[in-house]
Amino acid sequence: MSGTGADLKAPETQSGDLFDKFQPLIDTREKLLSTGVTDPFSLVMEKVLSPTVAICNGRETILLGTYNYMGMTFDPDVIAAGKKALDEFGSGTTGSRVLNGTYSLHKDCEDALKEFFGTEHAMVFSTGYLANTGIISTIAGKDDYIILDIDSHASIYDGCAMGDANVVPFRHNDIEALEKRLKRLPEGAGKLVILEGVYSMLGDAAPLSEMVPLCKKYGAMVLVDEAHSMGFIGENGRGVAEEQGVFDQCDFIIGTFSKSVGTVGGYCVSNHPKFEIMRLVSRGYVFTASLPPSVMATAATSIRKIMDAKYKREHLWKNSKRLHKSLTDLGFELGTKEPQSAIISVIMPDLERGAMMWEALLREGLYVNLARPPATPAGMTLLRCSLCALHSDEQVTEIIGMFERAGKATGCI
Ligand code: PMP
Repeated sequence: MSGTGADLKAPETQSGDLFDKFQPLIDTREKLLSTGVTDPFSLVMEKVLSPTVAICNGRETILLGTYNYMGMTFDPDVIAAGKKALDEFGSGTTGSRVLNGTYSLHKDCEDALKEFFGTEHAMVFSTGYLANTGIISTIAGKDDYIILDIDSHASIYDGCAMGDANVVPFRHNDIEALEKRLKRLPEGAGKLVILEGVYSMLGDAAPLSEMVPLCKKYGAMVLVDEAHSMGFIGENGRGVAEEQGVFDQCDFIIGTFSKSVGTVGGYCVSNHPKFEIMRLVSRGYVFTASLPPSVMATAATSIRKIMDAKYKREHLWKNSKRLHKSLTDLGFELGTKEPQSAIISVIMPDLERGAMMWEALLREGLYVNLARPPATPAGMTLLRCSLCALHSDEQVTEIIGMFERAGKATGCI
């Protein structure tokens, strides 16, 4: 009978519990933990001794799964700048950048970014996630088009979802697929192509030297997320766009302070003459508190130091190439044929074996990231290794030995 309370009751198969949709993930997690493996997603760093060593489960562990590419987290100048700012400006701003949350240190950090990238404009956001969502959702509006690599980071997808633009993905790093999409879009429409310098799951770089001019040919603006390349790749550490000679053709470069810079925060730099209007219209900038002054001081100091870090960049390349070759020689399948960044991903046959190998490495005294879908492409389980410029040659030798023993013990090699 219609119109009664009984009619409004949910069918028996639907409990109405909003958590039901997470059941498959809960089941996968329980199945994995029932094998007795340590939970790979709740490791605690009990003490951090340096950018490359921490105490985990009471033992000294080499860190090979951080984004501390340039090893800036314990830099004495960075720490001193943070302590000074804490004493002089207090612990937080308690406000948005457009109200009471812009201190001289925020402006100085933006100046450091302008010096680093040689751009006219720099805007600091509270995280890299907010920089992507805040810029993408704002600049591409109704009737505009966003063309993005299908393997783009979650913050790029979320930025698209928060805006009104038409979203057109193309096959990962596929120049022809990009051109096909660009060709089909209406002439005169607003177009934004979003690329990443280095894709964080497999550690592969984008062919920006071909893609960026192609975007320009079709009248598209280009945004490149250089989160995993800033500081390390390119002559001045500006990223893959610099390395491949197309930096000046990019309209927006986005990045984060949570990787090479060694603290937290996000940014967008640009030479667009109207860029400053973003400060009034980007919701991810306006409607959240600004970063604490101590964070701004550490970031600015770190950025200015990594401008001049040629030796560190060379050492990081040397270590990345050595680890890539050694793991290949041991028989591991890696995400790229040649090393293209400081990320070296080891492809595991499945989640169970990946978790076993992850735990075996941890017992050896090595921490790497275990990455699984949806973060990974093509349903892959990955052991993601990311090197730091401060890993010594001896640590790399130790790491290779650990991989060999753990790989043999778990049957991965
Ligand atoms: N872009 C990319 C490509 C990333 O990998 C990340 C973080 N892993 C972000 C943006 C977000 O950076 P943040 O940690 O500062 O939010």
